[in-house]
Amino acid sequence: MSTNLTKQTDFDAIIIGAGACGLMCAVQAGFLGKRVLVLEKNDQPGAKILISGGGRCNYTNLYASAQQFISKNEHFSKSAFAQWTVDDTISFFEAYGIEGKEKTLGQLFPVSDKAKDVVNVFTSLCADMGQELWCDTEVVKVEKVGDSFAVHFTRNGKEQKLLTPKIVMAAGGLPIPKMGATDLGLRTARKFEMKVTETAPALVPLTITGKDQDWYAQLSGNSLFCRVWNDQISFEENILFTHWGLSGPAILQISSYWRPGEWIYIDLLPHQNIVELIQQERETNGKKMLLAYLSNLFTRKFAEAISDRLPADKNLASLSNADLEKISALIHEFKVKPAGDKGYDKAEVMRGGVSTDELSSKTLEAKKVPGLFFGGECVDVTGWLGGYNFQWAWASGFVIAQNI
Ligand SMILES: Cc1cc2nc3c(=O)[nH]c(=O)nc-3n(C[C@H](O)[C@H](O)[C@H](O)COP(=O)(O)OP(=O)(O)OC[C@H]3O[C@@H](n4cnc5c(N)ncnc54)[C@H](O)[C@@H]3O)c2cc1C
Repeated sequence: MSTNLTKQTDFDAIIIGAGACGLMCAVQAGFLGKRVLVLEKNDQPGAKILISGGGRCNYTNLYASAQQFISKNEHFSKSAFAQWTVDDTISFFEAYGIEGKEKTLGQLFPVSDKAKDVVNVFTSLCADMGQELWCDTEVVKVEKVGDSFAVHFTRNGKEQKLLTPKIVMAAGGLPIPKMGATDLGLRTARKFEMKVTETAPALVPLTITGKDQDWYAQLSGNSLFCRVWNDQISFEENILFTHWGLSGPAILQISSYWRPGEWIYIDLLPHQNIVELIQQERETNGKKMLLAYLSNLFTRKFAEAISDRLPADKNLASLSNADLEKISALIHEFKVKPAGDKGYDKAEVMRGGVSTDELSSKTLEAKKVPGLFFGGECVDVTGWLGGYNFQWAWASGFVIAQNI
């Protein structure tokens, strides 16, 4: 690559990526009197913050702890979460005018329901503290040059290079390439011979193909509160039928624990027992048809759809024990073998990333490459749906800021 500018900067560090982690790192570094330059590929900072939580930004979760994160090392995130807690997130945003409100399951959103307010906190603070932010600037590679790092990037159509003593890799993960996602974090780790754990789309809708596809498609738009589980974990939230398969929070949650070829199980009526319900009903209403009864419990559309797998033309009184067992299995242990997932275009996060073995859990600095730090989604720490991923991004950004 031809280079038009090579110079040693007087910044304490260059941060790559003006997402949640990079912005928090820039601001926290500023509080400590450290000057940073943030390089961002997009034409504006915080693109994913702006679309998060349906544009409302679920910026943390009241119950966040290391337990809601997937990582080869389940203990790794504990140090960062001890250094920057959920209370720290709440107080930080409150200090800059953002009050939180809990929607459900500990999920905290700004009272204004505006993700833009969250981004504005960072852009105002960066401006006030003189932290430099260059948008429309794509980093192409990072190299070690003596004690420094050379950051190669394109800006204003020009290829340029800057030297810096420290690099913060906050370039995110692979989801949503059209919003600026690149593999720079993973590529840089590999270049410095650091391990990267297997990556895959996570918090992602699951697809159904083949003979069952039409069955799911007919239910497109139907949403149900369910318990969804596999051999590792269980979630109780809504599922949503779509014309290509399954989505909704419970499906997104389980998707992070699902591997191709595996089954997932759905209890369509959690906390109730369909056999007991039918037995009670038939004491007074034995002539009621099964389909009519199921229509009271679910939407008519859904009851009709599951009826094609049940003795729906029977009335409740005439259901045999075998019928009841069949109904119970279908309602309480509905089995699904997804064909795949909707990929990085629809995933909320990436599972896997830079191996935690390669990083100090206390500082997030690469053990083999002093001065190189990794935070946010490019690290093998992947949160559940519900504000957990931002909590990791804020915490890791804070930790790195203390150490650059
Ligand atoms: C639709 C959607 C909704 C979500 N909603 C929520 C939610 O409500 N709550 C929650 O906790 N999490 C949510 N997430 C997940 C959350 O957005 C991420 O976990 C979080 O943004 C990760 O922060 P990060 O700073 O590591 O990466 P990012 O926020 O992705 O930031 C990385 C930045 O680096 C830039 N970049 C990448 N490569 C380069 C390069 N080569 N040169 C220069 N810049 C580069 C990118 O453009 C990007 O701005 C959502 C994700 C999606 C996709």
